[in-house]
Amino acid sequence: LESISQQKLELESQLQGIQGEYLSEIEALRDSERNSQNNSTDCAFEDVENLEIPDNYFTRPVFGYVTQNFHCGHDGVDIASSLGSDIFSVADGQVVRIGPKSDGCVGLNCNGGFGNFVVIKHTLPSGQKIYSLYAHMQNQTFRDIGENVNKGDIIGRVGCTGYTVPYPCGVHVHFMILSDTYEIGGIGCRLGRATCYNPQKLINPIS
Ligand SMILES: [Zn+2]
Repeated sequence: LESISQQKLELESQLQGIQGEYLSEIEALRDSERNSQNNSTDCAFEDVENLEIPDNYFTRPVFGYVTQNFHCGHDGVDIASSLGSDIFSVADGQVVRIGPKSDGCVGLNCNGGFGNFVVIKHTLPSGQKIYSLYAHMQNQTFRDIGENVNKGDIIGRVGCTGYTVPYPCGVHVHFMILSDTYEIGGIGCRLGRATCYNPQKLINPIS
């Protein structure tokens, strides 16, 4: 009986992996459709030119290397690093959302694939608001909702919770910058109502 339940678990995780591949393919198709409609190289994402950002406003979210760029079908940038590395708040801000308690969960059902994540609100000197999101953290953030953080403060550790490739543990941070239409309730560009900025156009170097 034990081996049957073991087999069942393995099949389930394989299934989740396949499901994930299909979901990202569908998203990529949708994005390319949107792209062909508005003929934009940024695939209907927000234009960073609309933001007034002072020089040196941001710091990198993590020391590592980019494994996947921001592009149509991928609404953030993936930065690989070693397990447990520090994740930094990219600017002064306030913690506004924490992925539900789920330390260690893996797969698409773990906070929609984001695993342990934290969202920080940044109010620019111009008054414009943007949000930074850090996904797949090793554990839940030790910061509290409403807590103010400074640029460069440690807000978590690099992990592979949620859906990462190679499944089940591709250690990286999926880092996103969301627009001011971000509403608490959605956790990503596509799942929520916000649109995204290309983080690689805002933060240099990003890793
Ligand atoms: Zn990613």
